[in-house]
Amino acid sequence: MLRFDSWLLIIGFWLLVSCGDGEPATNSQEPIVYASPVDYDITLAGNFGEPRPFHFHGGLDVKTGNVEGKDIFSIADGYVSRLTVNMYGFGNAIYVTHPDGFTSVYCHLKRFAEQYENELHRTGPKDTLSYVFPPEKFPVKSGDHIAISGNTGHSTGPHLHLELHDTETWVLRDPMIKLANIIADTVAPQAHSFMAYPMNGEGVFNGGFSKQTFGFGAGDTKVQRFTFNVQREFTAWGRVGFALWADDYSEATYNHYGVRYTQLLVDGCEVFHSDVDSIPVSCQLEVNNWGDYEHWRRTRIWYMKSFREPGMRLPILHTNFEQGVVCFSEERPYHLTYVLRDYQGNESRYHFTVRGERFPNIEARPRRQLLDSYRLYRQVTWPLHTMKH
Ligand SMILES: [Zn+2]
Repeated sequence: MLRFDSWLLIIGFWLLVSCGDGEPATNSQEPIVYASPVDYDITLAGNFGEPRPFHFHGGLDVKTGNVEGKDIFSIADGYVSRLTVNMYGFGNAIYVTHPDGFTSVYCHLKRFAEQYENELHRTGPKDTLSYVFPPEKFPVKSGDHIAISGNTGHSTGPHLHLELHDTETWVLRDPMIKLANIIADTVAPQAHSFMAYPMNGEGVFNGGFSKQTFGFGAGDTKVQRFTFNVQREFTAWGRVGFALWADDYSEATYNHYGVRYTQLLVDGCEVFHSDVDSIPVSCQLEVNNWGDYEHWRRTRIWYMKSFREPGMRLPILHTNFEQGVVCFSEERPYHLTYVLRDYQGNESRYHFTVRGERFPNIEARPRRQLLDSYRLYRQVTWPLHTMKH
């Protein structure tokens, strides 16, 4: 008969295994050099991991001057492993598999370079075609011309949608990990406002039991690094989660992007951080849970939570034992700081103070205390259990 903690171990192991596709593959091969997919300065219309309803944006949207017909080049050595043609989705897309464990995918193309076009046997404009090639058929070098940019498939205007995948697991990776040095960005992300989520029956924020938003009012600060202090003081008691509406920017365009790195500190200790480095395809729907989808539906604004909802597996979220929820259990000021950073290291910080203030009928009991008593139980009982065997 298995003891209760053995079952816990088994369940824990199962969870670990079932989330295994969340871990990017380790690419042990020699690193190779990556270059631009276009022959002009890159500006982005969208970045990796931006929240969208029911999915994260899976790549970089490289601007093509609002026109079709720009030359597209392979970003690294490798071989063309696949061509797909579709009226929907990626439209015309070309896949290049690289020797370091990554595959790059170029989407919404007008057409492919001639040698690949010759492989296609189109019979009509609504064809859905897919061709897979062995490594020796179409080897490419970094900078080889592979396609012409376009506006095919599900695309709202001419651009290049560029994805990077772990070849083995097909986990989506942020192409910035390979292309950051060729994309100029000296502007820090900015937060617009935060949302407080008093936990049902367990918390209160500024006297309210339902979620509330509070603007930072920081204005337009297009600089590399800045700190913003919120003057107003808030009150809370019990368990409260937080979420942030924030965007990243670059100096080159008016566009805004998702924030690569977000951290929430309480009195200098991290309770949450997210690093949007990779998205397992199986976790795409969790965007509606990490982000406040209900709020998005009404306002078209994404608040990304700094706490983990039950059942969330997204490997890019990291929380403390309280799952990122803050427990205000002492009558004193709590100093909260949001740290936002982009891939280039441009950083902004937002400080605000929440005063713990006792509230009728809300019992403030940090989970940490429960954990500590559990640990104590384990320390006392574990040797006794093992001695029985
Ligand atoms: Zn895109």
